[in-house]
Amino acid sequence: MPFHSLGLDPSLVRAATDKGYLAPTAIQVAAIPAILQGRDLLGAARTGSGKTAAFSLPLLQRLAGAGRQQPRRLQALVLVPTRELAAQVGESMRSLAQQLPVPMRIAVAFGGVSINPQMMALRGGADVMIATPGRLLDLLDHRALRLSSVSMLVLDEADRLFDLGFAEELGRILALLPERRQNLLFSATFPPAIQSLAERLLSDPVRVEA
Ligand code: AMP
Repeated sequence: MPFHSLGLDPSLVRAATDKGYLAPTAIQVAAIPAILQGRDLLGAARTGSGKTAAFSLPLLQRLAGAGRQQPRRLQALVLVPTRELAAQVGESMRSLAQQLPVPMRIAVAFGGVSINPQMMALRGGADVMIATPGRLLDLLDHRALRLSSVSMLVLDEADRLFDLGFAEELGRILALLPERRQNLLFSATFPPAIQSLAERLLSDPVRVEA
């Protein structure tokens, strides 16, 4: 199955091809059309499956299709457990977004480094925020961003978010998000905490496995 038959904009297909992605992985084939339709999604996927592009490509297309917001308001939030994953997802998403007709501002934030450059980077607003939960809450405390216009939420490696003790932070962030939104949850394992999170968070989700 070629990329262009998944319903993606040619500029995103070109960006994927430029990265050397000649054909979509199994999780991309299953997830991309469902996310483009606006469905919630539960993904059983580990690193290496191609899950980053599986959510990034349709997320970028939906945001680009929604048109430019003036002033720029945060539309998508991707929560990840570690700074390494935040940096990796940010890099991957930026390269996939490069050829979109609508430029996207993709912000990345994680703890363990000074918050000031991350606050400066948010001054002009961002369309997508990729963050670890603790640093996101710090940025919200500093009023560096607002979550009131977020229409897409991605929890990446949700099991590790819990393993690393982010359950409480996650609850605080979820309470700040608008109710009407699309939710995507990816996890390698499904212990009871993740199952109950999925039940609370997702509405009639498409289930995909890789
Ligand atoms: P991920 O599971 O998202 O961490 O991706 C694992 C690796 O697969 C990364 O190095 C990606 O750049 C690569 N990748 C993602 N999608 C594809 C694809 N369709 N074809 C080839 N490589 C891919």
